[in-house]
Amino acid sequence: LGMRHADTGAVVRCLSTGGSVISAQPVQKFGNNPVDVRDTDHYTEEYVPSFVEKWDSLIDWDRRSESEGTFFIDMLRERGVKKVLDVATGTGFHSVRLLEAGFETVSADGSGEMLAQAFANGLKHGDHILRVVQADWRWLNRDAHGEYDAIVCLGNSFTHLFSERDRRKALAEFYAMLKHDGILVLDQRNYDAILDRGYSSKHVYYYCGEDVAVEPEYVDEGLVRMRYSFPDESVYHLNMFPLRKDYTRRLMQEVGFQRIETYGDFQHTYRTERPDFFIHVAEKE
Ligand code: SAM
Repeated sequence: LGMRHADTGAVVRCLSTGGSVISAQPVQKFGNNPVDVRDTDHYTEEYVPSFVEKWDSLIDWDRRSESEGTFFIDMLRERGVKKVLDVATGTGFHSVRLLEAGFETVSADGSGEMLAQAFANGLKHGDHILRVVQADWRWLNRDAHGEYDAIVCLGNSFTHLFSERDRRKALAEFYAMLKHDGILVLDQRNYDAILDRGYSSKHVYYYCGEDVAVEPEYVDEGLVRMRYSFPDESVYHLNMFPLRKDYTRRLMQEVGFQRIETYGDFQHTYRTERPDFFIHVAEKE
């Protein structure tokens, strides 16, 4: 594992006691000025295994299913969807839920490490054999094949794209892999609230009670740097592009989606007057 990361340039930290190395793990690398890291390609380095494992172990999947409810499943069923491409598989939460609900599901992600974890999680949560494809959204059609009734891009994933060109390219690739009457379901954090409320009155989002605290540590129109604090006092970060709701809707329209419905979701955290997430459902026909 350490070797692989050294190859890709990620820092490897060795934890040692009395001179004997007990473990070696890659750590997140944001350089001297973290708020300068605004690069679409950086996502594979941000999701280091220790962060991903911690997230998965604390955010119990049953609790997460409960808090998310059956919104996605119900909506896909109502529209007669059979075949789904999960383009942001991550550790597999949504792919497994889709398989469990009976959808024919293919699981894609740009990070091989995430897919490995997702595959293991599929076996662990109900003996599912995930059909995984490693593919970056910008070149999705090169590596993933077939036509789908629905593409899902969930868990605030689209935020990882840092240029409008990349966003347009990714949406165009999603559009191309949908059947003539297919739909794209894409969610995002409510960045309007973060941007408009400003850094000074930042809001801490708690996941599953107080287990994980997520708060914006730095905010401007081109970057939200989120800080994830865990009960063992470890801290991780993700750099995200703050997508304004209407901007995402406009981009979807401009690449050809005909109708976009946006839902507000109050279920992920403590209830506030504003939704923490938006879910866009974009129709091709
Ligand atoms: N849907 C899952 C969930 O909610 O648990 C995972 C979401 S995770 C926040 C975002 C995922 O998007 C990561 O696994 C990351 O590797 C992937 N990702 C980010 N940018 C990508 C890109 N350009 N192409 C493909 N995958 C990408």
